[in-house]
Amino acid sequence: MKLQAVQQDLTPGQYAVLEAALLQRQGSLEQELQTQLGEQGRVEHAREQLLQDADGEHAHATDREVDLARSDANLEALRQVNAALQRLRDAEFGLCSDCGAAIAFERLNANPEVLRCITCQAAKEHGRSGTAHRL
Ligand SMILES: [Zn+2]
Repeated sequence: MKLQAVQQDLTPGQYAVLEAALLQRQGSLEQELQTQLGEQGRVEHAREQLLQDADGEHAHATDREVDLARSDANLEALRQVNAALQRLRDAEFGLCSDCGAAIAFERLNANPEVLRCITCQAAKEHGRSGTAHRL
C-alpha cells in the first residue's frame, strides 16, 4: 500500500469556492486583456495623429507605457491564475511549493493563486529561502 503524499484538507465545498473564485478572476482578467488589446489598436491610430504635435507625443508615450505595464501585470496575474487552476486539477493545490505543508483555507480564500504557506512566504520576503539551510 502506497502512502499518500501530504494532502490538502480542504473540504469539497472549500475547493468549489476557490475554484469558482479562480475561474471568475480568470474570466475578468481575460476580458480586461482583450479590452486593452483593443485599446492599443486605437492608441496606435491616435499616436499617428499626435506625432504631428511634439508636445502631445511626449504625453502620449507616457500613457502608452502605463498601458503596456498594466497589461503585462494582467498577463502575469492570468498566468498565476491558470497555474493555480492546473494545480487544483492535479490535487497539488493548497500545498506550499517550498515545504509541502497545507496552506490555510483563509489564506487561499484571500488569494487563491498563492504558492507558499505564511512561513515560507515570510522567509522569501526576507530574502531567505525556506528550504536552503546554510551552516
Ligand atoms: Zn511552506
